[in-house]
Amino acid sequence: MLKVGFVSLGCAKNQVDLERIAGSLSSESFLFTANPAVCDLMIINTCGFIRPAVEEAIEAILSMRSLIPSYAKLIVLGCMTERYKVELSEQNAALLPEIDFWAGVNEREKILDYILSLAANLKKGHEKNGRFLFNTPYYAYLKISDGCDNHCSYCTIPLIRGRLRSVSADELLSEAKQLVLSGAKEIILISQDSTKYGYDKSGCRHLPELLNNLALSYPDTYFRIMYLNPDGVTPELIAAVKKLPNVLRYFDIPVQHASDRILKRMNRRSDRAVIEKCFSMIRKELPDAFIRTTVIVGFPGETEEDFEELKTFLVEMKPDYAGFFAYSPEDGTPAVLMPDRTPDRTVRNRLKILQSLQKKNTMRRLKEMKKNEIICFAEKPNEDFGFILEGRAFFQAPEVDGMLYVTDGEAAFGHGPYRAKITKIAYPDIYVKLMGTI
Ligand code: SF4
Repeated sequence: MLKVGFVSLGCAKNQVDLERIAGSLSSESFLFTANPAVCDLMIINTCGFIRPAVEEAIEAILSMRSLIPSYAKLIVLGCMTERYKVELSEQNAALLPEIDFWAGVNEREKILDYILSLAANLKKGHEKNGRFLFNTPYYAYLKISDGCDNHCSYCTIPLIRGRLRSVSADELLSEAKQLVLSGAKEIILISQDSTKYGYDKSGCRHLPELLNNLALSYPDTYFRIMYLNPDGVTPELIAAVKKLPNVLRYFDIPVQHASDRILKRMNRRSDRAVIEKCFSMIRKELPDAFIRTTVIVGFPGETEEDFEELKTFLVEMKPDYAGFFAYSPEDGTPAVLMPDRTPDRTVRNRLKILQSLQKKNTMRRLKEMKKNEIICFAEKPNEDFGFILEGRAFFQAPEVDGMLYVTDGEAAFGHGPYRAKITKIAYPDIYVKLMGTI
């Protein structure tokens, strides 16, 4: 039996790819372990769409090489290896001798063949859509498409992951069934741009239809959608979320900027008017929904006036959560050739200003939520204080919006969902008292 360790870097889409590989390894022949020191095989799925992600991947490779036994094989795949395919093909040994075998994205079979070649008597599993879930059994990701045709001028994703390819609705329904059977109570739909689901097949957006199919087929499971570009948040999509009680009222809408001049240079599909219309439509139709966004700061040519527009956007549109990222110049993208880079110090200052403005928005909304009962889920005991359960409210997506801690009340029915009251806000986390089940 081979002992296998996994490291997933970057976004949840990478985690799903790794879960599929793990799901394809038969449990009779492979034992999964979180302890690198006993591994025969360590598989790292990398991110590589910006320079810091590449650096993180290299650090993980070097550190895992030093932690696993000298005889163990180190396998690397994902965006970083895809992006540097040519360099790795020509000079792998010189470039990263720590790696024993590598593959790009969409090369699962190559990895599986290599693993099986290590021991002739080991078997692959045969379960269709089989995945071995890495996070708590409570939630699981469902990758509805891969690749992107949008070509934002700063982004390497279309270069690395290729054109948009939507997974068929039948396959997604069957994968969702497997996830539900594995115990997932919340399924999170992910992609590069979820609003474009189906566009590659028919020239139309089919996300509302997919959501409808999934939510009606699995009425006891909650669904959350991530990565909605503003131009694709249509009245039909909002109506679907409004109609389906098991679709969480949570919209993850990356706007990236609020100045039309910068949005144009970024080659984004939505200008400020489209973004504002999208936010207003959601606020009008679903006033209890939470909106999360992301913003890139310091894009080439970003002036004080552009930055002021970002500030007023946060003040006026009040996203409930937001993540801010410094622009990272990436080879192969049009933006890397643009003049007028923003100095690092200015970017750092601007990031701080935006973070503090946004903190006010989030705090204001969390304080408002204190007045109401909320829906929440308990996922697992806290690592340091086992008597405290941790989980998330419906308005908190994993990894990005803070945690919820149950400090009062009995979690009598597994993961929930529960009704709860917020007792304390410790930004960005919340403490709750459970009031009962739903
Ligand atoms: S929508 Fe833009 S930023 Fe997002 S993956 Fe596609 S090209 Fe990249």
